[in-house]
Amino acid sequence: HEEPRVVLSARGLTKVFGAFAAVKDVDLDVHHARVHALIGPNGAGKTTVFNLLTKFLQPSAGTISLLGTDITNTAPDKVARMGLVRSFQISAVFPHLTVLDNVRVALQRPNNLATQFWLPMSSLDRLNRRAEELLAAVGLADARNTVAADLSYGRKRVLEIATTLALDPKVLLLDEPMAGMGQEDIGTVSSIIRNVAKERAVLMVEHNLSVVADICHHVTVLQRGEILAEGDYATVSQDPRVRTAYMGT
Ligand code: ADP
Repeated sequence: HEEPRVVLSARGLTKVFGAFAAVKDVDLDVHHARVHALIGPNGAGKTTVFNLLTKFLQPSAGTISLLGTDITNTAPDKVARMGLVRSFQISAVFPHLTVLDNVRVALQRPNNLATQFWLPMSSLDRLNRRAEELLAAVGLADARNTVAADLSYGRKRVLEIATTLALDPKVLLLDEPMAGMGQEDIGTVSSIIRNVAKERAVLMVEHNLSVVADICHHVTVLQRGEILAEGDYATVSQDPRVRTAYMGT
């Protein structure tokens, strides 16, 4: 079958801190409608790659392209408006607002180009409809009137993903979305990620390899700033270098 289109790509991506190369000559292609995992031991360079792609850090060398546009020298806020959005581990959720109000606030953020609501009634209707759609998409509709602080840890993370989706990203970067979750929440978030990836690309850093095996179409393994292996999980997990370097077997 046809390979889905590349929406985010990096070539020769390199970041040097002083004399130390945290990321070395990394090539990466992220595809529409795919979940792509970035894995590797601590210190491998995963966070630095995320910071480079979102332009929080300027690459020392290499190029990055988003939806066909070169963003190597583009400011991070512009990159976000162009559709590359990162969900932080540190929650962007307002604890004292309800779930629904959190999503409504997110939909009205000024950098949200998809939806510009300046309060005419028709727009308010649209805002409310979009908020309900988002809650339904992440399985939080039943909690719409719950104050965010009262949600379980897992559902708070899900709400955070929903507020990120309010920006209508074309490429969603998730940094350890399952960190600290129990099995039930992992299952819930896995199916949400699968669902949101139907309409966009997802690139995620994930340590839980059964999650990677379960939901990721493509895996890139980093080690000491370089790509050690890539491919589907079955291929990568059989690679003897990966087994030695990463899985310790
Ligand atoms: P990972 O997310 O895979 O654990 P990081 O990208 O956080 O790895 O870090 C990769 C390497 O780069 C580590 O050795 C880290 O100490 C180093 N590093 C990260 N950021 C900086 C920085 N701002 N200055 C110096 N070294 C850094």
